[in-house]
Amino acid sequence: MIGRKNTQTDIVISGAGAPGLTLAILLARLGLNISVIDPHTPQTLKNITPEGRTSALMDSSINIIKATGAWDHCAPYGAALSTLRIIDDSGQNAAKTVDFQSKELGLETFGMNISNNVLHAALAHVAAKEKNIKTFYGDLVTQMTQDDTTTNVELRGGKTISATLMVAADGRNSPTRTMAGLSADITTYDQKAITCILNHTKPHDNVSTEFHRPSGPFTLVPMPGKQSSLVWVDTTDNIDNILRQNKDSLQRAIQQRTNNQLGEITLASTPQSWPLISAIAPKLTGNRFALIAEAAHVLHPMGAQGLNLSMRDVAALAEIIADQARIGMDIGSDTTLAMYEKRRRHDIQLRHRGSFALNKLVSNHSTFLSMARKKTLSVIETIEPLKKHLMQQGLQDYADQGRLSQGQPL
Ligand SMILES: Cc1cc2nc3c(=O)[nH]c(=O)nc-3n(C[C@H](O)[C@H](O)[C@H](O)COP(=O)(O)OP(=O)(O)OC[C@H]3O[C@@H](n4cnc5c(N)ncnc54)[C@H](O)[C@@H]3O)c2cc1C
Repeated sequence: MIGRKNTQTDIVISGAGAPGLTLAILLARLGLNISVIDPHTPQTLKNITPEGRTSALMDSSINIIKATGAWDHCAPYGAALSTLRIIDDSGQNAAKTVDFQSKELGLETFGMNISNNVLHAALAHVAAKEKNIKTFYGDLVTQMTQDDTTTNVELRGGKTISATLMVAADGRNSPTRTMAGLSADITTYDQKAITCILNHTKPHDNVSTEFHRPSGPFTLVPMPGKQSSLVWVDTTDNIDNILRQNKDSLQRAIQQRTNNQLGEITLASTPQSWPLISAIAPKLTGNRFALIAEAAHVLHPMGAQGLNLSMRDVAALAEIIADQARIGMDIGSDTTLAMYEKRRRHDIQLRHRGSFALNKLVSNHSTFLSMARKKTLSVIETIEPLKKHLMQQGLQDYADQGRLSQGQPL
């Protein structure tokens, strides 16, 4: 299988999304040679406009991105998140509102909201300047074999790459996960999410507002100036019907659901829809092979945890590889991979179960659960230590806080 155009590298990463590129940059800075493969070529940063989907990133994730040097390119496009407002608006009795404020935890902000395309372009810009990173954009892995010391991959274009370790960062349908003989337990929801960017006439005051309604949450997340990103979750049928409307009706539908909190709404980007699933890989590693990000886990977007969890995979793997490389150990050995599996398992299971349960509680027509939702919000609001605990668990990251998450060097 190894052809004449074979590239010898330390680590090959399939998938150049934000997690794949972050890992590549961090590892390249250790002096390791990294090959990154992706069928898509990233957007360039020049004249970029924020599009469709955004990610609310906690401070710990921002610290990991800062370690790559890409955050300076992102920051001007991001908006701080200082309050999370939950409005239980299930239509039975009056709406119940609870505010979670970063200052209650002694923090200036919980993090920032940034559009995925800007984050991705910033990381690709930094990766392009790294001499230890070789990119294979427009290509993909068609075949993979492993032996005791090496992973060999063959690309669609005919090139071959040999590496000590292969990392799958190629998303929820990860083809290399399947090639490695690993699986994922997938739950499909009868739900989709509409995402887009909105202009509005009133300021958002850095408040992210989540309306909890029986068919799914409707969330407005601050963007710079008088803009917010929308994540509107509803049943598949409802979302398909909503997107069939013309622009004016769609704007009116969004306007009505915001309860006019942000004044007059207009669309700033074309709405896109995403089918929602959750997934978890029972095993994160194989022979000279590791899964990160959505190749390892997919969460419901409610709670905005997916990319944050992925960034903690990246940080954990980078730190373990750095520690092993520094003492001259094999960075792709079973021992190294067992450390990664052990370190990430708990955090991933916790978030996976949590996001599943949260969606069940919120997206539900049951009168009992509707009462439970309101009761829960009232209890949370009145018991200060409980509220603080929930904020620390959900909005400030306590699980798997490594060096990079805390802003320390790799
Ligand atoms: C509506 C919505 C809102 C969300 N909001 C938030 C939020 O606010 N906060 C948060 O933390 N998370 C959020 N998430 C989750 C977050 O977007 C994902 O966790 C994150 O994008 C996953 O990154 P990834 O690199 O694993 O996958 P992707 O972003 O899908 O990237 C996968 C990469 O693999 C590449 N690829 C595909 N096929 C191949 C192949 N055969 N070979 C090589 N490469 C391949 C793709 O081109 C892509 O570059 C949200 C998700 C949704 C659906």
